[in-house]
Amino acid sequence: MEKVAVIGAGLAGSEAAYRLANEGIKVDLYEMRPKKMTPAHRTDKFAEIVCSNSFGSFEIGTGSGLLKQEMRLLGSLIMKVADRYKVPAGSALAVDREKFSQEITQILESHPNINIIREEVKEIPENYDYIIIATGPLTSESLSKEIQRLTGSEYLYFYDAIAPTVDAETVDYSKGFWGDRYGKGTGDYFNCVLTKQEYERFYEELINGEQVPLKDFEKAVYFEGCLPIEEIARRGKETLLYGPMKPVGLTDPKTGKRPYAVVQLRKENREGTLLSLVGFQTKLKYPEQKRIFRLIPALENATFVRLGSIHRNTFIQSQKVLLPTLQLKKKPNIFFAGQITGVEGYAASSATGILAGLNVARIIKGLNPVVPPKTTMLGGLINYITTPKEELQPMNPNFALLPELDIKIKDKRKRKEEKAKRAIQDMRKWLEQIKTVEVGGGFG
Ligand SMILES: Cc1cc2nc3c(=O)[nH]c(=O)nc-3n(C[C@H](O)[C@H](O)[C@H](O)COP(=O)(O)OP(=O)(O)OC[C@H]3O[C@@H](n4cnc5c(N)ncnc54)[C@H](O)[C@@H]3O)c2cc1C
Repeated sequence: MEKVAVIGAGLAGSEAAYRLANEGIKVDLYEMRPKKMTPAHRTDKFAEIVCSNSFGSFEIGTGSGLLKQEMRLLGSLIMKVADRYKVPAGSALAVDREKFSQEITQILESHPNINIIREEVKEIPENYDYIIIATGPLTSESLSKEIQRLTGSEYLYFYDAIAPTVDAETVDYSKGFWGDRYGKGTGDYFNCVLTKQEYERFYEELINGEQVPLKDFEKAVYFEGCLPIEEIARRGKETLLYGPMKPVGLTDPKTGKRPYAVVQLRKENREGTLLSLVGFQTKLKYPEQKRIFRLIPALENATFVRLGSIHRNTFIQSQKVLLPTLQLKKKPNIFFAGQITGVEGYAASSATGILAGLNVARIIKGLNPVVPPKTTMLGGLINYITTPKEELQPMNPNFALLPELDIKIKDKRKRKEEKAKRAIQDMRKWLEQIKTVEVGGGFG
């Protein structure tokens, strides 16, 4: 009988182990807590949610809402328990975190096919046929070194310095121009132009914007040369004009002159539906980011699909090392799941756990591993993290990840609704096609 290990009983590891166990496969589930705690976890419970108790919106017209609906179709343990212990929170799915983790722990501990091992995995064990690594953003140091050995050290990142990303459709292209510095490149940057007056107003708001305080274990990040934009700004009124907002090498075709300041937007995906603000990693609070970055004229009405942050976060460069089936290219019997793959947040992390578990189960049953259609939110996310690009920055579920519809719909909300309908339909169809493995399974 094949030996299977899941490392990490967080959100992704719990989903993966549960899926495997329900397919009749025996699993060793490793969890280092409580013997060794991460800097963020507080309990010995599985699937502990470390910060907010919200899984985000449950509205199908939001990326996170759609993903959660897909997860239900996939038989997600996390969703079933979250739905059971939800607490009122408007349009968000918030849970009673203690009851939630308690129940997940109890389900996994009492499952006849799951053997719990409360130990830190320091080396990738050799005695398993299949391993799923789901150790999350705070993977222990020894295992991180092992992962570096496996993937190549340049492919494991220890923090993310995320710049905000906007929906390309919501940028006002009349307030800037496409073009690369010194005319080099292929014109992939959109330069948002600011006059002196606009820059000065932006600068004042930026340096006075409210920041998220750094956690103790995150402080080191600051000294690794990854400065938030507001920190650069605080060094002097003109510093940004020589840094991320420098206009050198750029000529505005409308005026024939160099702009006073620019903010460059760069395509985040091949389709160009997502644009990120180059060099704008930030610790500003989310509402502050929206308020302040909308002072950039081209972004006045922009929709931010992801806001900036600087976090401790261990994640691999999946676009280089992982197959869309979540298998390591170099060693396809090793799978990665959860936030360590470069997806972001509770729901997305859990969802990749289901896929990893499903794929190990399929391989053991002599079937091919599978990937959900790109038109689904899970498929869109997997496509995003595994599509070649120079650098992967973590991504949360959002509609810009999904391909356009066959028909043009002007109204944004309607368009999202149609994309969501298509996603659910395609997920159902896909599940029908791959039915050879039972979905869902014995949950009391
Ligand atoms: C400080 C902080 C705040 C966050 N706030 C939010 C938020 O508000 N909303 C949100 O959606 N997301 C938030 N996140 C992200 C969130 O934690 C992840 O999206 C989610 O928990 C990831 O799930 P996971 O299963 O990949 O990892 P985790 O849930 O972290 O699970 C990984 C598990 O692996 C275990 N582990 C690690 N190393 C080893 C080892 N060597 N051997 C054995 N076990 C090991 C850990 O103890 C842990 O139980 C936050 C992250 C951090 C660090």
